Amino acid sequence: MELIDIGVNLTHESFHHDLADVLLRASRAGVHRMIITGTSVQATRDALALHALHPDRLFATAGLHPHHASEFDADTAAALRELACQRGIVALGECGLDYFRNFSPREAQLRAFAGQLEIAAELQLPVFLHQRDAHADFIAVLRDFLPRLKDAVAHCFTGQENELEDCLSLGVAVGITGWICDERRGRHLLPLMARIPANRLMIETDAPYLLPRSLRPHPPSRRNEPAFLAEVAATVAAARNESIAQLAASTTAAAQQFFRLPQV
Ligand SMILES: [Zn+2]
Repeated sequence: MELIDIGVNLTHESFHHDLADVLLRASRAGVHRMIITGTSVQATRDALALHALHPDRLFATAGLHPHHASEFDADTAAALRELACQRGIVALGECGLDYFRNFSPREAQLRAFAGQLEIAAELQLPVFLHQRDAHADFIAVLRDFLPRLKDAVAHCFTGQENELEDCLSLGVAVGITGWICDERRGRHLLPLMARIPANRLMIETDAPYLLPRSLRPHPPSRRNEPAFLAEVAATVAAARNESIAQLAASTTAAAQQFFRLPQV
């Protein structure tokens, strides 16, 4: 079984001391390849440094998280455009809107989102999208750009049925995290899983965040890691009434094609 983790924050400080062990455990769990999420110019540079160390395993996105949207200016746009052209970068993002925390003002978020979609359209890179509590604005901005975009994935999709329908009808792919393993806040996702076409469904851990609550035994640290992607795969497979092998094959093929990863 081979899985691809399409969203992992391996440059996070919690992985600094034992990244080699984390990668080893990921391999043993079938997670050989992963896409490191670029959340800022510096995080994207750090992700590219990891790609240089593991060029066949680790790939990265180049982007500015909506939390950091206030930093978006001409210099940041130029830096992201230059980074996005480097080998190892397989998508633009994460970019989008987060009105849950509003760490950056909405105006700044909308400007940074559109600015990054513009770069993705120019470079014909797929986009890795983040959205929380901002669905209407998110879809409105995205709709304008979609005809010019190569492809798009709504990462860490946690929305309701109508939000899923909006994404799918626009041709936006969906990334599912361990949110779905949370019996308190992720249960609504289970019946939605069968609605997603197999070639538009990918899985991710968003590690070190979102440790799957259903994981047994529960690790002593609260840190999530790519090896736990198998728990997400098992939960999504059960919700789709598929075998894990079937779900692994389809999500891996979808990620391989979406990010245009080199054939292995
Ligand atoms: Zn995100």
